[in-house]
Amino acid sequence: MTLTKLRLILGDQLNAQHTWFEQKKDDTLYVMMEILPETSYVRHHIQKIIAFFLSMRAFAAERTSEGHQFKYYQLDAADNLQSFERNIQQLVDQHNIQKFEYLLPDEYRLDVQLNNFCKTLPIESEAHDTEHFLTQRHELDQFFKGKKTYLLESFYRQMRRKYDIMMDGNEPITGKWNYDADNRKKYDPKVPIPSPPLFKREVKDLVEMLEKYQVNTIGRINPEKFEWAVTRAEALQTLDFFVEKCLSNFGTFQDAMQDDEPFLFHSRLSFVMNVKILHPLEVVQRVIAHWQAHPQEIDIAQVEGFVRQIIGWREYMRGVYWAKMPEYAQKNFFEHQNKLPDFFWTGKTKMNCLSQAINQSLDNAYAHHIQRLMVTGNFALLLGVNPDEVDAWYLGIYIDAIEWVEITNTRGMSQFADGGIVGTKPYTSSANYINKMGSYCKNCHYDHKERLKDKACPFNSLYWEFYERNRAQLGNNARIGMAYRNLDRMPEQEKAALLAKAKYYREHIDNL
Ligand code: FAD
Ligand code: SF4
Repeated sequence: MTLTKLRLILGDQLNAQHTWFEQKKDDTLYVMMEILPETSYVRHHIQKIIAFFLSMRAFAAERTSEGHQFKYYQLDAADNLQSFERNIQQLVDQHNIQKFEYLLPDEYRLDVQLNNFCKTLPIESEAHDTEHFLTQRHELDQFFKGKKTYLLESFYRQMRRKYDIMMDGNEPITGKWNYDADNRKKYDPKVPIPSPPLFKREVKDLVEMLEKYQVNTIGRINPEKFEWAVTRAEALQTLDFFVEKCLSNFGTFQDAMQDDEPFLFHSRLSFVMNVKILHPLEVVQRVIAHWQAHPQEIDIAQVEGFVRQIIGWREYMRGVYWAKMPEYAQKNFFEHQNKLPDFFWTGKTKMNCLSQAINQSLDNAYAHHIQRLMVTGNFALLLGVNPDEVDAWYLGIYIDAIEWVEITNTRGMSQFADGGIVGTKPYTSSANYINKMGSYCKNCHYDHKERLKDKACPFNSLYWEFYERNRAQLGNNARIGMAYRNLDRMPEQEKAALLAKAKYYREHIDNL
């Protein structure tokens, strides 16, 4: 039979359970491609590019072995024209294709690009759902119609009801919706941290290929052992490990930070979920089944905390993205214009919390949520860094960074650049919170209790300066009244000294 249909699969659309793969079709050719523009729209972590290429190659190979027909363009293939449009056009011409189909991209940029491209194609085209998310693109938008702030909790409850997750009729099975308040403990060294499964692959060829094509990357890699899960079997193994070894402590230590412990009890599932190797519902169902089978070992607070991240936050961020793009990418509520300090790219700073979070990100392309929010994000916000720079850093450095979930978390949740769509107040803190949640301050050059002396922690003066600087935008926000009451109670001399200290730190940012 001759080929008549061409179907494009993007690098983050690796859903083997998609209805497209239910039947083998002789007339259908699937196309996947590694192309240079996708490696350079931001400076990506080298492990992120390698993880994408490895998982794409594995996906194409597995579907091919099942009998589907694939054309896979490796970055260095002689016939790779290094563009979606040109490669597709090439295949359309070669095979006399009659219809082009693609899966709806999750990135606004690609959505527009493919939509425009289809208008220029002389053949029929059609876009299909990726069958991955638990909500439609504009479902959240409809849910919050007319509201300024999109409250996660109300959306989350609706999702629990919609999918009947841990519910007894219309109410939560345990009588309580949210166990967040139980989940804020510092790590207890008596609780052993399990070692995650690491998949040691040699990736020298891929690293050499990226070097040959002069792909500009960030971060570090050991080409002899690349450890992230990139296939469905490895993703399922990672899920099993999480459920069996980490879940019982997940919620309790979700916000904890510990020197030299990058993963603690976190699942490390964001990459395999974001590229759609795992479906969010299968992850949640696996977690709930394990909890139900081990009620003595695992309490509801651990499970609820995890379920909320996936059916709540993850879907919510995607909904905000589609409700607010493309304007969202321009938002800069505080009109911050500063540069990101150089140490974000090198990890060279005496501030232990930042050194730990950044070096770990450079080493693993990973940091957990509180490191992203309350260490790097908090510092960039206090410093007044332009959200474009902050976004570019987060979009580049993390293995799981795809714009729909990166920009809403970064620009929205961590930088409050959306002026209060995602959060009702900025996530800021002095050293107090960082010290309360982990070991970093104990091992730091700076003194977390000091605000003015030589070794005073920079977070402390920058924190007060942030509120003083942004009084016009935040002074009327009832949720941060306390910060302004404290600031106003402060003797003028002390306030002036704090502002001078913050100014000094800004001027010496590269030596901190
Ligand atoms: P776990 O702690 O084990 O959590 C389980 C899962 O819940 C995650 O895999 C993820 O799918 C989901 N989840 C948890 N929190 C969030 C959240 N706030 N938004 C969406 N999903 C969530 N997550 C990304 O997937 N990609 C990003 O680019 C990204 N950028 C972020 C930037 C900032 C500034 C912040 C504060 C958070 C960001 N997050 C991002 C959310 C979160 O930090 C990561 O999902 C998480 O750290 C991934 O590690 P894990 O799989 O071990 O997560
Ligand atoms: Fe970070 Fe300040 Fe604590 Fe050092 S003292 S680890 S800089 S919060």
